[in-house]
Amino acid sequence: MTTVGVLALQGDVREHLAVLTGCGVRAVAVRRKSELDAVDALVLPGGESTTMSRLLETFELLEPLRARLAGGMPAYGSCAGMILLAKDVLDGRPDQQQLGALDIVVRRNAFGRQVDSFETDLPFTGLDDPVHAVFIRAPWVESAGGGVRVLATVPRQPGAGAAEGRIVAVRQGMVLATAFHPELTGDGRVHRLFCDLVRGAEPPYRVAG
Ligand code: GLN
Repeated sequence: MTTVGVLALQGDVREHLAVLTGCGVRAVAVRRKSELDAVDALVLPGGESTTMSRLLETFELLEPLRARLAGGMPAYGSCAGMILLAKDVLDGRPDQQQLGALDIVVRRNAFGRQVDSFETDLPFTGLDDPVHAVFIRAPWVESAGGGVRVLATVPRQPGAGAAEGRIVAVRQGMVLATAFHPELTGDGRVHRLFCDLVRGAEPPYRVAG
């Protein structure tokens, strides 16, 4: 059975484990290198990226995780997880570590400069119906490299303000990230897309180019 880990240093670990279990994979918490070595893929949860960054160093997981990502391990990050996976962060802490698995620059707490949380229905590439997206002190993607596929942007709507048109879901190779938290809404479709990717199935959102 495919084993998908959830980085369990801090954040909404249990919610991700529950949704992954519903996707029919073995979902396990990852806190140490031996646990990381045993998974086929890893989810990086929402939480606080600066804290997770510090704990990755304390638990001596930073370099092993970078090495697994460089080796092609599939990964999915939600919110703080997206920040960690990014190559660069704006409005981060100077000592915040980046995993560099996605060629994106994220702005931390981007929505939080206007409102702390924001909800909207987002069209999402590869899903038939929009995803109800919950943003909590979320980042957005300020810029993305040529190899990054944009899966969702914030649509025009009252209250969107400066968030309108911002990139909030991306995929690059085997790495997926959303600025919002599908693990909190009872909608398993984004996790299922990820699990399909991990299982090596041809996911519906894989388009040519
Ligand atoms: N603001 C948090 C950070 O910087 C992310 C918030 C979240 O994951 N909901 O990591």
